[in-house]
Amino acid sequence: MLPVIALVGRPNVGKSTLFNRLTRTRDALVADFPGLTRDRKYGQANYDGYEFIVVDTGGIDGSEEGIETEMAEQSLLAIEEADVVLFLVDARAGMTAADQAIAQHLRKQQKKSFVVANKTDGIDADSNCAEFYQLALGEVYHIAAAHGRGVTQLLEATLGPVIAELAGEEDDIEQDDELLTELYLEGEEAPDDGKTGFEDKPIKLAIIGRPNVGKSTLTNRILGEERVIVYDMPGTTRDSIYIPMTRNERDYVLIDTAGVRKRKKVSDVVEKFSVIKTLQAIEDANVILLVIDARDGISDQDLSLLGFALNAGRSLVIAVNKWDGLDDYVKERIKSELDRRLGFIDFARLHFISALHGTGVGHLFESVEEAYESATKRVSTAMLRRIMDMAQADHQPPLVRGRRVKLKYAHAGGYNPPRIVIHGNQVHDLPDSYKRYLMNYYRKALNIMGTPIKIEFREGD
Ligand code: GDP
Ligand code: GDP
Repeated sequence: MLPVIALVGRPNVGKSTLFNRLTRTRDALVADFPGLTRDRKYGQANYDGYEFIVVDTGGIDGSEEGIETEMAEQSLLAIEEADVVLFLVDARAGMTAADQAIAQHLRKQQKKSFVVANKTDGIDADSNCAEFYQLALGEVYHIAAAHGRGVTQLLEATLGPVIAELAGEEDDIEQDDELLTELYLEGEEAPDDGKTGFEDKPIKLAIIGRPNVGKSTLTNRILGEERVIVYDMPGTTRDSIYIPMTRNERDYVLIDTAGVRKRKKVSDVVEKFSVIKTLQAIEDANVILLVIDARDGISDQDLSLLGFALNAGRSLVIAVNKWDGLDDYVKERIKSELDRRLGFIDFARLHFISALHGTGVGHLFESVEEAYESATKRVSTAMLRRIMDMAQADHQPPLVRGRRVKLKYAHAGGYNPPRIVIHGNQVHDLPDSYKRYLMNYYRKALNIMGTPIKIEFREGD
């Protein structure tokens, strides 16, 4: 799972400058959930080989009122969800009362917090930063976010150990997976043929979506029809519940981001919904089931979540929920809006369901299974090559600077999502339209639905 870094600090110290620098190499996706997250921005970062989620908490004012306001609460929640807290201070402005107030908060939290003195460009960093040791949070790291100076060293020192730690935990989780498969078989006769009969790994299916779209209702509906042993994972607000289940003789682990089986009675939307939890679930899942509310249509938040799922290369099924009690005219209007706004993810199957009444819920699993099969499908080099030749014969690549782009060779580059590597001449000059054509050609030829396909181009043979 990806580690999470939270950027905190008073306004103007350079948090968003650092955020932008960290997320630059990947499209910075900002999930802004109004009323819920305030000014918090979430981004997927891939910086100098370090992959993580970064949260810009907006800013803690540090004043007495500031700490008590809802915005400060939001920042504090972000801190709670983070693995690493980077506490930015301004090396030019020097230490302020607000910095001290924030430091006091951080010292009380059981979090790995690091003081980061920003804007050290063009000043004597050592003498300007010495006073920040008084914050009593240990080492003071020097950076210039605007120029990227010191950022790699900062990540190495602060994130490096956490990544190593998480990698250790991942091994434990692998073992947990085995435990899960055993758990849900409880009460069932073990087959005596020497095989377990469940050697295929369960499909990890994450049910995600904005607050109130019907995730809990859907999860309950799915689980209600199945024999389920609930496996409560100990954890904090950012942990999803992993629920093993079988359906149509297929093994699944449902990643329940809504916390259906854990929360007794949670009315507070902030407790119920966590962006970090959702992003972690996307990262960990094989297939994403994105639930949207038919009555709200596609919102910017839905698009942000889709963006994250796409970036992660996950398989995807979309459930348009609350399809009950709508008249035909409204249904048509919603459908055409979805067509228009979801055109960019034409590979995902769309289902119109009512989690409340159970309508359409069964069919979701057909698409989930299809998406998983597509994502993990093994295809021979010969086949990939033949499809490439056919695509090229049907529709030649264009001329670039008077020379025709030529595709020569194709082979598989990986699965989940399927990656195809194509070698050829001038392939880096291929226009996007031709790349899309190739992708669609492969999609049709291999009958791949529900998962993105990635094509990489390499110059030469
Ligand atoms: P935030 O409010 O904490 O998000 O701060 P911003 O990222 O918006 O930065 C506040 C101001 O500080 C902007 O004018 C930035 O250009 C400037 N700034 C940020 N990083 C640096 C830096 O490394 N060096 C210098 N000299 N200025 C910086
Ligand atoms: P979550 O926050 O995504 O887990 O959403 P919930 O499952 O708690 O549902 C939010 C509200 O939408 C509740 O009042 C549900 O009863 C209602 N709801 C959920 N699914 C449906 C549906 O299919 N049709 C209708 N009409 N209401 C639904």
